Amino acid sequence: MSADPTYGFDTLQIHAGARPDPATGARQVPIYQTTAYVFRDADHAAALFNLQEVGYIYSRLTNPTVAALQERIATLEGGAGAVCCSSGHAAQIMALFPLMSPGMNVIASSRLYGGTVTQFSQTIKRFGWSATFVDFDDHDAVKAAIDDNTRAVFCEAIANPGGHITDLDAISAISDEAGIPLIVDNTSATPYLCRPIEHGATLVVHSTTKYLTGNGTVTGGCVVDSGKFDWAANDKFPSLSEPEPAYHGLKFAETFGPLAFTFHGIAIGLRDLGMTMNPQAAHYTLMGIETLSLRMDRHVENAMKVAKWLEDDPRTDYVTYAGLPSSPYAKLVPKICPKGAGALFTVAVKGGYDACVKLVDSLEIFSHVANLGDTRSLIIHSASTTHRQLTAEQQEAAGAGPGIVRLSIGIEDADDLIADLDQALAKATA
Ligand SMILES: *Cc1c(COP(=O)(O)O)cnc(C)c1O
Repeated sequence: MSADPTYGFDTLQIHAGARPDPATGARQVPIYQTTAYVFRDADHAAALFNLQEVGYIYSRLTNPTVAALQERIATLEGGAGAVCCSSGHAAQIMALFPLMSPGMNVIASSRLYGGTVTQFSQTIKRFGWSATFVDFDDHDAVKAAIDDNTRAVFCEAIANPGGHITDLDAISAISDEAGIPLIVDNTSATPYLCRPIEHGATLVVHSTTKYLTGNGTVTGGCVVDSGKFDWAANDKFPSLSEPEPAYHGLKFAETFGPLAFTFHGIAIGLRDLGMTMNPQAAHYTLMGIETLSLRMDRHVENAMKVAKWLEDDPRTDYVTYAGLPSSPYAKLVPKICPKGAGALFTVAVKGGYDACVKLVDSLEIFSHVANLGDTRSLIIHSASTTHRQLTAEQQEAAGAGPGIVRLSIGIEDADDLIADLDQALAKATA
């Protein structure tokens, strides 16, 4: 550990994972722009390849800049270890890969990032996996959906696009009872607002593309392992509990204990799927995380002001921000994300599809982009973009119907954001 894990969040977001460079004393984490690493001798190389010694072999597997980021995110999430990868979607596959096999299923929330709905409802079928989508506010339905072939439960802490909050304690109680890991996508909340492992999550996945990097420069993902799940408790997770032929019959759970999932992610996942994060991306994300708490506080403060203003405006029907006292999710905020409900929500605009499209085109400060968690304020009409591949029913279930726009509130002056929305709403509803 480079930083005492009992330090406060603001200290850890700067220091965790980062030590002065042993070769040069460089204070900032260097970008180790190298593919390979020289072995001390043949025995050293053999020990590394046998997983008997931890070290650097080849940057598809491990890289010092990426390792610093992995340690920082694991520390901020309160996890045992983490594996970074090339995007948030890569992280989702990396999280499921050790758990699933043909015929197995994941129980997923119906309120997820649109791309995840597509990945889970279409693409993973090619691997012989399937997803069952359930309303995660209906805890009995989640319980009922789990069967003998279920290998994971998956949800977002603050759900895209509506900013709805998932009762992680209730969901983890259900997954625990079934002996199944809970995977929480913590992209929209970040570990500053929500720490899913404290609410029973087994794995936490991130699109580091969003708030962690914070300024829309690089894509990346991360899988954090709580280190708390007993993979050998039954025969459901043979990749982790049974002998691995590619490593002379080594059993990951037995050999690596709480780091089993992380080692598997590197030694099998990155080695064979190759969804590796590059050191440049890790550098940008390390820079971003240094100011995470400062940005998140401002994101939340601005989101609250903008959401209140929009809710009171007669040109809107409703605003889904969980930070508003009127939200059915408001009561979950102190429990799940005590520092605020994030900065992502949807607005129903009077005038439906046409008014939404006009609003998007009339805004000046807000950028019309398929992204969130930028310092800049962003807007998207989900039904014509990110959620376009979904059926009308899926769109409604995901809170992305035709008359709804999604806002990602940035850290500009809130008054400027409100003025921009005011002039654009005037044009949209004229
Ligand atoms: C963006 C996003 C993803 C996908 O991440 P990429 O980095 O774009 O692959 C997954 N989940 C959530 C909640 C997201 O916002």
